[in-house]
Order: sequence, then structure tokens, then C-alpha cells
Amino acid sequence: MGNINLKNFNYKELKNWVIEKGWKPFRADQIAKWIYTKKVNSYDEMTDVSKDIRKYLKENTEFSSLELVSYEKSNIDGSIKFLWKLKDGNTIESVFIPENGHNTLCISTQVGCAVGCKFCFTTKDGLIRNLTTAEIVDQYLQVQRFVGLEPKKRISNIVYMGMGEPLANYENVKKSVQIFTDKKLAGLSNRKITISSSGILHQIRKMYEDKEFPQVRLAVSLNAPDQKIREEIMPISQTNKLEDLMKLLNSLPVKPGYRIMLEYVLLKGINDRPSDAHKLARLIGKNKKRFKVNLIPFNPYPDSIYERPDEKDVLKFQKILWQYDIGAFIRWSKGQDISAACGQLRKKEINSFVKIHS
Ligand code: SAH
Ligand code: SF4
Repeated sequence: MGNINLKNFNYKELKNWVIEKGWKPFRADQIAKWIYTKKVNSYDEMTDVSKDIRKYLKENTEFSSLELVSYEKSNIDGSIKFLWKLKDGNTIESVFIPENGHNTLCISTQVGCAVGCKFCFTTKDGLIRNLTTAEIVDQYLQVQRFVGLEPKKRISNIVYMGMGEPLANYENVKKSVQIFTDKKLAGLSNRKITISSSGILHQIRKMYEDKEFPQVRLAVSLNAPDQKIREEIMPISQTNKLEDLMKLLNSLPVKPGYRIMLEYVLLKGINDRPSDAHKLARLIGKNKKRFKVNLIPFNPYPDSIYERPDEKDVLKFQKILWQYDIGAFIRWSKGQDISAACGQLRKKEINSFVKIHS
């Protein structure tokens, strides 16, 4: 086992690497099929790949970058939270979410986060490090293997909404999106992948200008109807002004059918009042078909300084947006009983007593 992990390579890189090794180019397709289509558990299962190549791969590359430490399944909605240990001992989490007719996987992109939103548990210890592309891609492969490969277990949707700010780990996230959407690799649909960002203006701009970044759905954590409230709960707003963010979002070349999702964490008494809903509607303005709003009632965690809003206020907030003909959905959190809901994922200390449990 070595430091190379083939899931750090997009298709072109995989092919070049295979050629560099002196193997026939079609070996890249064979290997890719075993990894991404058949999702095998080991190099030994790659039966049409020659023994010599398998031996080389076994000795010089790592098969998976993640080790499963534990998982918890929600009794409420069947979602499963996974805790993974990375090779350096850090831990990350992913959440499998079964929904009517399809399955979504929420993945992490960093250990911790540097952005420092006041309501978010992930950022408490700041940023520890970026994940590699393989560590991002392995979350998908490992979870799919874990839940099973039958069609009804298939992960069709991926949301970059776990731990970390995806666009602050730009290159590795970009390559993971290339891998997920490449028909010769994971082959997922671009429309079923969503990158969620806290709204770092130059990174969003860069992503849309980058011809090599496959277009997927963009979600932006707006979380406030005006600059004052946003600055209070999201300090990055001091330099990434709400006004500039809205200008940018209104000008991005989004494809039809790729509406931008505006995420809005509802914090009791802070941004959940009817007046906030009206302000938000005015902020969205005329261009409402470009956006949809995702309302996320705050998910508390130990020592959180905010409170979950009352259900009636959440429903009222949604209704007001509807009055303006704005598409608004409420994300009643999945996996709340297992602390797997939005904003609840965080680095864990592992000791040798942690067991796999169901
Ligand atoms: N860093 C990215 C993606 C990860 S956070 C981003 O900020 O968009 C994913 C979503 O969870 C964001 O919309 C964020 O605002 C929300 N969130 C964070 N903490 C939360 C909490 N405690 N309760 C509910 N939503 C939360
Ligand atoms: Fe980072 Fe997103 Fe949490 Fe903000 S909400 S601290 S950007 S993970």
C-alpha cells in the first residue's frame, strides 16, 4: 500500500498515469469500471486486470483513504451518519439520506472550516485541513458499498453540505465533481449534484469562469435578509457584501433548470420574523425564477447560542415568500436524532473503544 490513490485522478490523469506505467491505455478503462461501476472492495476483485498490474496496484497505491469508525441510523427517517477516520487520524462525517424514490449523500470537503459562521458547529475549532479528492470521492464509494448496490439503494444525488466550505478547497472539490459527473467514471447527473457555499464572491466567480469545472447546481447560504444581520451571524459578510453577492448571483450564467438555491437558516428571534421574510422577498426582487429558497430551521447542538424557531413561525415565513411567488421549501432536518442534520457535523475524538454500532 502506498500514498497514491487512484481516486485523486480524473479520467485524463488516470489514463496518463496508466500509460506512464507502460501499460496499455485500455487498462485505465478496466480499472475505472471496477472502481466506479462495480464499486468493488479490493484490487483482487478486478479479475480482468492482469495479475502483475493488480500486484503493482496493491503494493503501491491505497485502495481506500477512509476507514469506517462508526455509523448511526436514524429511527425517524432512516438516514445514516458515517464517521470516517482519515490516514492522519482526523475524522470526518457523511450522511446518507433516503428520500421518496431517490437517495442523497451529504459529503464533507474539509476537516473543520475557517469561515466561522456563528451558528455552525463545524467551525468551532477552525480549519484543520482540506480533504484530498480521494477522501471526497471515497465517501461516495464507501457509503454506496455499505448500503448496497441494488438499484433502490443507488446514490443519485450528492450535496456538498457536510463539513467545510467546498469552494475554499477549490481544486480538490473541482476534481471530485469531474469524477462524479464523468460518464467514464461515476457517471452521476450534473443536475443532481449541488455545491453549497457560504458565498465567497471571488471563488463563485472563478467556478463559473472555469471551463473545466463541470456545471452543477449552486446553493448559497444567504441566511439573512440584510447586511446587518448577515454580518452578525456570518463574519465573512464583512468582506463579501450581501449586495455584491446578490448582484453576482443575478448575473451568473446558470443553465435553464439549474436554479440557484438560497439557503436560509432560521434562527429564533434573529432572522425568522415576518419582516425578515418580506425583506428577503424584496432582496430577491424581480428575478425570482432564478432562485429557490431553502428554509432550514436551526439545528441546535451542545452550547449553541441560538435557538430553533417555532414551527408556526417557520411556516409563516414560507407563506410570506409564497405570496411573492417565490419558490420556498422547508428542510425539516433529516437524522436529527443522530445529530446528522445540517450544521451538526464536527471533528470527533476517537478512542480505541469506539465500536461500530447500528
Ligand atoms: N460551508 C458550506 C456548506 C456546509 S454548511 C455552506 O456554508 O454553505 C451547509 C448548510 O448548513 C449551510 O446552508 C449552513 O448555513 C447550514 N447550517 C450550518 N449550521 C447549521 C445549524 N446549526 N442548523 C441548521 N443549518 C445549519
Ligand atoms: Fe463553514 Fe458552512 Fe459552517 Fe459557515 S456554515 S462555518 S461556511 S461549514
